[in-house]
Amino acid sequence: MGRTGRTNEVYTDVLVVGGGVGGVAAALAACEGGARVAVIEPYAWIGGQLTSQAVPPDEHRWIETHGSTASYRRFRQGVRSYYQDWYALAPARAGGLLNPGNGWVSALCHEPRAALAVLRAMLAPWRASGRLVVHTQATLLSATTDGDTVTGVAVRLADGSVQHIGARQVLEASETGELLALAGIEHRTGPLRLAGRPAAGARRRLSTPPPGALSRPPGRRSRSGARRPASTSGSPRSRSGNARRG
Ligand SMILES: Cc1cc2nc3c(=O)[nH]c(=O)nc-3n(C[C@H](O)[C@H](O)[C@H](O)COP(=O)(O)OP(=O)(O)OC[C@H]3O[C@@H](n4cnc5c(N)ncnc54)[C@H](O)[C@@H]3O)c2cc1C
Repeated sequence: MGRTGRTNEVYTDVLVVGGGVGGVAAALAACEGGARVAVIEPYAWIGGQLTSQAVPPDEHRWIETHGSTASYRRFRQGVRSYYQDWYALAPARAGGLLNPGNGWVSALCHEPRAALAVLRAMLAPWRASGRLVVHTQATLLSATTDGDTVTGVAVRLADGSVQHIGARQVLEASETGELLALAGIEHRTGPLRLAGRPAAGARRRLSTPPPGALSRPPGRRSRSGARRPASTSGSPRSRSGNARRG
């Protein structure tokens, strides 16, 4: 992350808003691709729902054989190693595809703290090299935009200081689209409605409005929304977004 010359203003290649598994995966991929990366996360630790809700990572029946990225496979192996290396396991459980919690809902039921340890370990080399900065307890304050593109954010860091982070690419990984709402960028949430019919099981209040009925700030050009698009920064022409809600 480079300094721009202005106080408390930095510039990076990729800014990831949200430090859940999606944000961590994006940060890892960007670092491996040679980018300088910053992650901002409001809570005290990364991992999002995986390390906060005691939910197993997935229920995919064939996950051990296919349907996984290389980094997710490393994560799964890391969780197993966490228990195999540091816990006194019965010999029958010490090797192979260990399911630490032995639950039926997932082949990898485990404690949130194990997931957190593995995610931190996966990021550690990049943080040590200086290519990756992870700001936890960081509050998103406002966003600068160029049209429908987010070019940077202002964030209150854990020490109380306010930092402006500009980036070539800003990735929304908050799961709920917090950055899009804050920046006033056209978007929509809920299941897509295809051929005029709500998706099976979709609740009426979540139905996607028809094209053209999307809410957007007056005077902005229409563009089809996406639930969690990656926004790419452009020219420095910008405007401040709204203050953080709640
Ligand atoms: C109760 C429950 C059970 C589930 N069970 C399963 C399951 O068994 N298997 C399965 O595959 N999936 C399950 N899921 C879904 C799975 O947990 C999510 O799909 C997955 O965690 C999403 O990852 P994510 O990184 O996109 O979002 P999250 O894990 O939600 O991470 C988003 C991150 O963004 C941060 N954030 C929020 N607001 C801001 C902001 N303003 N600025 C910066 N950062 C922000 C959050 O603090 C969080 O760290 C479950 C979900 C729930 C709620």
